[in-house]
Amino acid sequence: MATFKDLKLKPELLQSLQDLGFSTPTPIQASAIPVLLQGQDVVGQAETGSGKTAAFGLPLLHNIDTNLQQVQALVVVPTRELAVQVRKELKQYGKQIDNMKIGAFYGGHAFSEERASLAHPPQLLIGTPGRLTDHLNRRTLDLTFTKQLVMDEGDKLLEMGFEEEIDQLVAALPSQRQTILFSATMPEGVKKLIADSLHNPRFIQATSTTI
Ligand code: ADP
Ligand code: MG
Repeated sequence: MATFKDLKLKPELLQSLQDLGFSTPTPIQASAIPVLLQGQDVVGQAETGSGKTAAFGLPLLHNIDTNLQQVQALVVVPTRELAVQVRKELKQYGKQIDNMKIGAFYGGHAFSEERASLAHPPQLLIGTPGRLTDHLNRRTLDLTFTKQLVMDEGDKLLEMGFEEEIDQLVAALPSQRQTILFSATMPEGVKKLIADSLHNPRFIQATSTTI
């Protein structure tokens, strides 16, 4: 069984994982992390509770240049609750990395608070599609330095009718980027999104859960 150390993650991440008591990567983590660290696009399918957030989050954190104050990684999630949860989890993983800034944009609180945070943009931004495109339209969000994009719960993003917002976000990112999509199911809409937005993705499926 692989350990997190075998996955060649940076020492600060290994320290956080140890502090959290995570000893072994879950199957989706063990399969996806090496491929993501190589820079390949990935489609990941695994059931709820299988550790998908760390599967994409650890490579994002590993790759961020903390000397650059720009949004370098964007995680798009379908709901505000998930945005809050993913931010909390990624903050735990990233807490040993100096100057790592993780932020979240979602509806339900003052727009101005989020705009203020853009004077020093987070390097890793999590958000809901509607709120993120609002920021793009108001020119309070710059995604031209965003080299990594994650669409989490892809099936739910489409079920909730966010296709247009996702198209707009994808169009605002550089074409030279890594794109990652996680989804519990693969309906036709998700397959189309994969075909339109990912480049030669590796498909990774993990069925068993060991958490
Ligand atoms: P998913 O997105 O697949 O539904 P999460 O990423 O939310 O699942 O993970 C579920 C829970 O498992 C979280 O509370 C997380 O902290 C924990 N977890 C993730 N990876 C590991 C691991 N390798 N070992 C122990 N616990 C883990
Ligand atoms: Mg998840």
